[in-house]
Amino acid sequence: MISIILFHIFALQNELNMQRNFYVLITVLLLGFMACTQKAEDGQTTTSKETLDIVTTTGMIGDVVKNIVGDKANVASLMGPGVDPHLYKATQGDLKRITEADVIFYNGLFLEGKMEEILLKLAKKKPVFAISEKMPKSRFIDYNIGKKEERKSKQIFDPHIWFDVDLWSNSVDVILEKMKAQDAKNEAYYTKNAANYKRTLKNLHTESQQKIASIPKAQRLLITSHDAFGYFGKAYDIEVNALQGISTVTEFGLKDVSNLVNMIIDRDIKSVFIESSVAAKPLEAVIEGCQKKGHDVRIGGTLYSDAMGEDGTPAGTYVGMVKHNVNTITGALK
Ligand code: ZN
Repeated sequence: MISIILFHIFALQNELNMQRNFYVLITVLLLGFMACTQKAEDGQTTTSKETLDIVTTTGMIGDVVKNIVGDKANVASLMGPGVDPHLYKATQGDLKRITEADVIFYNGLFLEGKMEEILLKLAKKKPVFAISEKMPKSRFIDYNIGKKEERKSKQIFDPHIWFDVDLWSNSVDVILEKMKAQDAKNEAYYTKNAANYKRTLKNLHTESQQKIASIPKAQRLLITSHDAFGYFGKAYDIEVNALQGISTVTEFGLKDVSNLVNMIIDRDIKSVFIESSVAAKPLEAVIEGCQKKGHDVRIGGTLYSDAMGEDGTPAGTYVGMVKHNVNTITGALK
């Protein structure tokens, strides 16, 4: 009996020792990891880690980064399929991920409404970049057109810049420049990938222009839940209208519904479109309104507006998302 008790005490001690060793090992590993990350003179953190951990806010940005860095860095996006960036609040897990990340890319222009403040704070300590920062400002859509009072106080630009493929391809240059600075050893690889991806985007832009142009001009009216498609409309010559403003935070009233109903009936529009990251219900009020007035309008399909599709599906990449949208719009409005 005593020997059994002694054996248990011995085993327990052994276990405690192992636990202590484990904690010592973890601490050593953590210190080693921290030692690899040094503060540079300009206050930005440079890193000598073999593989960088990059975090992006939206999946669209993550996809551009992946196309540039290939297998030379780890890329994770905080906002997955179906997530609305306007309303998105960082979770505890997100805070941990952005604190641990070596490089962070976000959209800017207040797309990440509730996260922008955290990102701006973090930018003082580590490489955090808004991909819209160096894009040609002249191409941004000023959302305050016609609202003089608001324009005086602050300029608000439409943040949905990924909908003009040509404008979005500027994000490749911004990300490439930053990655070359953060990870010089892979500069040649990143430069080659970026050039290839820009070619893909150029083709996608032309293809999208041609497809939308095939819709007869009178039927070229894109009605969606929220005003995400302003850049799309401008780039591909299609009129756009939505129930809610550029942010899903804005409310809409009965007047907005009846205005849209009248427009659909006047123009004899066949389809309206729901969005993968916005509730469909508000748009259903528009459909009902049309039906009450004897005009049959249907849902032309689901568009990927502020988030890409599930990983591994055709719309799970930026190129696939744009193709899906263009094909859905063309198919339903023609
Ligand atoms: Zn949006």
